[in-house]
Formats: sequence, C-alpha cells, structure tokens
Amino acid sequence: MNEKNIFIVRCGEVALKGGNKPYFERMLVKRIKQALSMFEDVEIYRKEGLIYVRSPKNIPVIQIEERVTRVFGVASISQAVECESDMDKIGETAVEYMNKLIKERGVKTFKVEAKRADKNFPVKSPDIARKIGAKVLIDCKVLKVDVHDPDVRLFVDLRHDETFIYEKKIEGLGGLPMGTAGKGLVLFSGGIDSPVAAWMMAKRGMQIEVIHFHSYPYTSERALEKVKKLVSIVASYSGSIKMHIINLLPIQEEIVKHCPENETTLHVRCFMMRIAERIAKRNKCQMLITGEDLGQVASQTAEALVVTDGCVSMPVMRPLIAMDKVEIMDRAQKIGTYETSIEPYEDCCTVFLPKHPTTKPDFDRIMESEKDLDVDELIGNAVKSEEIVTIGPDGEPA
Ligand code: ATP
Ligand code: MG
Repeated sequence: MNEKNIFIVRCGEVALKGGNKPYFERMLVKRIKQALSMFEDVEIYRKEGLIYVRSPKNIPVIQIEERVTRVFGVASISQAVECESDMDKIGETAVEYMNKLIKERGVKTFKVEAKRADKNFPVKSPDIARKIGAKVLIDCKVLKVDVHDPDVRLFVDLRHDETFIYEKKIEGLGGLPMGTAGKGLVLFSGGIDSPVAAWMMAKRGMQIEVIHFHSYPYTSERALEKVKKLVSIVASYSGSIKMHIINLLPIQEEIVKHCPENETTLHVRCFMMRIAERIAKRNKCQMLITGEDLGQVASQTAEALVVTDGCVSMPVMRPLIAMDKVEIMDRAQKIGTYETSIEPYEDCCTVFLPKHPTTKPDFDRIMESEKDLDVDELIGNAVKSEEIVTIGPDGEPA
C-alpha cells in the first residue's frame, strides 16, 4: 500500500475545450495547488485527461475533498486505491477494498463497473467487471451482487500504468478554472445579490476584482467589515480577491444639493458605474459586473438599467438579471454568503434614500439634471481616495 492517499479529480467542462484542453487543465492544476497550498508535501499532477492528488496520510481526507470540490472547473473527486494493471493484482486489491468496507460499514451487496482507458489491455471492460466481481464474490463470503441497488458500486478504472479502484464520486461545482475567461470588476455591496453575481462570474472562469462604495461616517466600520467578510467567502472559492474601497459621501452630498430628490438613487448609481469603469480600466478589467435583477427595486427597472448602462462604455454583465429573488437567495445559501448578507448593517444606498424614487427615468433628463455637478472632478477625487486591500479566503488581508 502507498504511504499517501490518492485522489482522482475529473475536469468536467474543461475536457470539452478541444485544442485548448492542456491550457485549461494546467490552469485547473494551478488552482487546485493554490487551494491546497496550506498543506505540505501534496503532489498534484495531470496525466491522461485526469488530475491526481497525492497527499500525506496525516491530512484528513475530508479536508482534501472539501477544498478541491470548491475549485471551479472540478467536476468530481474520488479517493482511490491503486495497483498494477494486472488482473490478479486488481482482484486482490478489490477484495482488500471490499473487506475494509464490510468491516467499517457492514456492506452486504455490491456491483463492479469497469472502464479501460488502455484499449490494448487484453480484457474488455465488461469482462474485467465480471471477473473482478466473481473474485470478490468468492473471497468475501458475506457479499452478494445487486446490479440495481448495490450498497457499493466498485469502480475499476484501468489505465496504462496503473489501475484505480474507488467507490464514491463527490461532485464538484463545475464551471471553468479561474483566470481562463478574462477579468471583471464586480460592484460589490453588502447585500444578497452582488456576492452571488461575483461567484457566478468567477465560476465561469473570470478573474474578479471587487469595488465597494461606502458613505463613512454615515455607514460604519462594521458595515465595511461585513462586506470584507462576504468578499472572503467568495475568495474561498476563487482565491484571493483585490478589493477597491471608495467613500462616495462627497459625491452623494453634491447630488443631494443639486439634483431632484426623486432621482438621487439613480445619480448615485451612475457615479458608481463611472468610477468603477475608471478603476476597471486601470486594473485591466474588461467588464463591469453587478448584482442587478430586473424589476427588483426602483433602480432596477428596465428604464433605470438603460440609464446606468448609458453612463459607461464598458460592457456591463448582470448575471442575475432574469433570476427570481427566491432563486438568488437559494443560491446565496448554497454558496454560504446568505447569513452574512442579511446582517442588518446600513448601506450607502440607504443613506439619503428618496421617498418616491423615479421608476421610469429618461437618460437625457438624468444627464440634464447633473448639469450643476462637476462630474469629472467628482470622479477624479473619488478615484484618488481609493483604498485597496487584498482579501484572502480566511478573511485576512492576503
Ligand atoms: P445587493 O444585494 O447586491 O446589494 P440590492 O438588491 O440591494 O443588491 P441595489 O442596492 O439596488 O440592489 O444594488 C444593485 C447593484 O448595484 C448591486 O448588486 C451592486 O452590484 C451595486 N451596488 C449597490 N450598492 C453598492 C455599493 N455600496 N458598492 C458597490 N456596489 C454597489
Ligand atoms: Mg444593495
């Protein structure tokens, strides 16, 4: 027996990428290495379309499984045992494997499924399954075969250099390895939606940075801490995230002074987009991402979205646009951001909230009512006051 635990990691959609496949696989290996970087002496490598992880026995299996299944691009992981690709050796290893399961879990029924990646191997897959099944039946007297609903499905994966035997496949999240699909800047609030939007884009392989606006001292230090905590939860999937923090209060005060009350939220939103675009360009982000959802609130009507879109020339991605709030909440719960998102802290959008916000704004009219604002100077000052932190998965600045 090997002194390390071995895991087979399957690459899901990455496997569909044709000529780019090696690139995607290399990126996935890199991300898995990052996800396991806190452990010493772990080997991670790719071979014949699979990724292998070998970890010292003192690292709990569950820790490896949990960390690897959070990496975007991973379809599934199986802890396996390995042996030579030789029918006798496979038989002996299968018997040993099943004996262990009988002892640990009182397993009574099983079924063998076999796959041979090495097409030159003289025994075909169905025959491998039959022969290994027969050997297990003879040697493990308490076991019976059940092809429909077995306690254990024993997978035999026969490859060129070795054969892997395993029982379980733990599903990963799918998606694509981070960094294979460009870079975007997420407008990240402390609410339920934007963390989900960030997570969804990162899952598609996009590297993300986030920008957060606050209105200190109207919004508190603790409100900002909450947002950082949310970023760190997203980072526990994507890896460390660069966070841009901007105080929007000077701009909000100008808006309140010079623009009609019912339009204030929209003006604030326009400034957020413009500032984000500046920061995005500086940081080589190709697009902006928001957690907007059609019709959810006054600032997210079709008309309002046309206005905010019109303020920038960069593409704006809105991954949640057609989702119901319940679906988004459900997703937030699965990701693990929900409980933090609903902590009741003030948000910069709730400062100076109009009583009757306009729901059918017109772009030209909104631009017209900004005429008393020095838009460029306000943006320039805001950008100058930017603070930057990098947030790691553990919530600490990385
Ligand atoms: P969320 O749950 O993301 O806060 P929401 O339903 O509260 O969404 P709004 O407050 O209208 O929606 O915000 C819509 C989008 O605008 C957010 O999803 C986010 O992308 C962006 N946004 C709002 N407030 C901020 C902020 N303080 N900093 C950065 N982006 C923000
Ligand atoms: Mg919000």
